[in-house]
Amino acid sequence: MENELVAEVVLSGALPEGPEGEALVRPIAEEAVAQVLGAKSEGAVSQLVVRGERIAITLTSTGARPHQALLSFVKRLQDRLGRSHRVGIRSLRALHYTVRFPLDPVPAQPIGLPIPHEIWYEGTTAVLTLSELDEEALRDNWIDRAVALVEEKARRQAYQGKEQYWALLKPAVVRPGSFREDPTEAMIRRGWVRNGPTKGKWFLGPRAAHVLRAMERLARREVLEPLGFSEVVQPHHDSFDILLRTGHLAGLPGEFYYVAEPRTRDPGAWERFTDLVKITRQVPTEELAKLVGPPSAVSCYAQCPTVYWWLSGRTIAEGSLPLKVYDRTAISNRYESGGRHGLERVDEFHRIEPVYLGTPEQLLALREELLARYTQVFDNVLELEWRTAWVTPFYLQQSGGVGVEDATERIQGTIDFEAYLPYRGSREESEWLEFQNLSIVGDKYTKAFTIRPQKGLLWSGCSGIGLERWTTAFLAQKGLDPEGWPSRFREIAGPPPPDPTFL
Ligand code: ATP
Ligand code: ZN
Ligand code: MG
Repeated sequence: MENELVAEVVLSGALPEGPEGEALVRPIAEEAVAQVLGAKSEGAVSQLVVRGERIAITLTSTGARPHQALLSFVKRLQDRLGRSHRVGIRSLRALHYTVRFPLDPVPAQPIGLPIPHEIWYEGTTAVLTLSELDEEALRDNWIDRAVALVEEKARRQAYQGKEQYWALLKPAVVRPGSFREDPTEAMIRRGWVRNGPTKGKWFLGPRAAHVLRAMERLARREVLEPLGFSEVVQPHHDSFDILLRTGHLAGLPGEFYYVAEPRTRDPGAWERFTDLVKITRQVPTEELAKLVGPPSAVSCYAQCPTVYWWLSGRTIAEGSLPLKVYDRTAISNRYESGGRHGLERVDEFHRIEPVYLGTPEQLLALREELLARYTQVFDNVLELEWRTAWVTPFYLQQSGGVGVEDATERIQGTIDFEAYLPYRGSREESEWLEFQNLSIVGDKYTKAFTIRPQKGLLWSGCSGIGLERWTTAFLAQKGLDPEGWPSRFREIAGPPPPDPTFL
């Protein structure tokens, strides 16, 4: 026995007590078990007691979970007893639902769940009991989600808190330079940028904006347009539904900027608020909290989720594959907290995100084309000292073909592009800056958003071109003086605009 479900059904009227009531109910329960669980899973009604309007029932099984049988039992009960005894179902709940499943290795740290439960281990078997599950939780299959969550938490522990696996792909070509400053500090000193007005946000004056936009032009002209990517323009707010489907909401809730709506735009409702502002010249935050609803969306975290939403439920014609689009409209917001640093790690950044969908072969070929184009830009236009690494995010660790150990398997996963930042120290010891990445994520998102191909398999991937990161990587190596910049970049950038002189 792997699964045991102890449940209670409350009826709207009493049945005969004892053996007579049981004789009425047991055949219905056994029928449900046999039909739903089948012979293979050895499902059984291991206990059944009828007392007045309450039925206590215990179902056991191996393999398939018994709650489907319980739900079927209750439905049959309703049909039969409604007719013969004029009795309906008032409520249904599981007192305890226990499942045993293999978990190897057993987690070293205790694992918690946000619902009533107990968990213990017998060798490499985990025994999980959920208590007090109502009908909705049973129908919604919380039990399997709880098992999956315990497994995920155990895997995370085994991964020792390391979110990413890292392996060098292409080493850097050393490019000696003389600039050693933190480029953000240098830009602040020259008045190119100003920090604020809210956390982790920067105002880029004409000179800094000029460099950032040159990076954007460079990426579009030298990488995206030649490869046939088309621009899309997407909204700036992501719905919770989108982020539930991608898994971001469960994965990174502490990194979002949440969007809340006013409860009303009726000026009358806001009068007390506006009067307080006029008198106190301060923000009456308590009053504001009453007038604004709970968060209902998220400010763009990454652009690809909304691109997948655009395609959701659609079948893409073969002639449209590989589908290649990019967004440069939505601006990414992330709560980076303690990690913030200069323009390198900001709470608001500008990024071009190319997204591609196609057969696995098409995407692997496109990855090579993108790599070749990016290489051309970083080597010959920006003349950067950069390298690539194979990293596999935690969520892909368990899928096939991720090449965590075996390089020939490197199909699904991410390539990080990293730049050496001289101000941080030596090449060997300092941390390099991830200035962009390139991923193939298999069918994770095409499945989650039911995006279908005309035939065969449909995979997807994306690449994050972080413009602040391109800018800082470049300035950290080449300095702020255009005289020291590679000529091809100067051509693309054009003459720098004057910054205002402040007295
Ligand atoms: P990091 O490990 O540096 O936090 P990430 O793995 O969170 O980066 P992704 O979510 O993969 O980054 O985003 C893709 C690209 O977006 C990055 O390669 C980088 O260019 C840019 N990016 C991400 N976070 C920031 C940030 N806080 N500030 C500036 N650019 C960023
Ligand atoms: Zn993406
Ligand atoms: Mg990050």
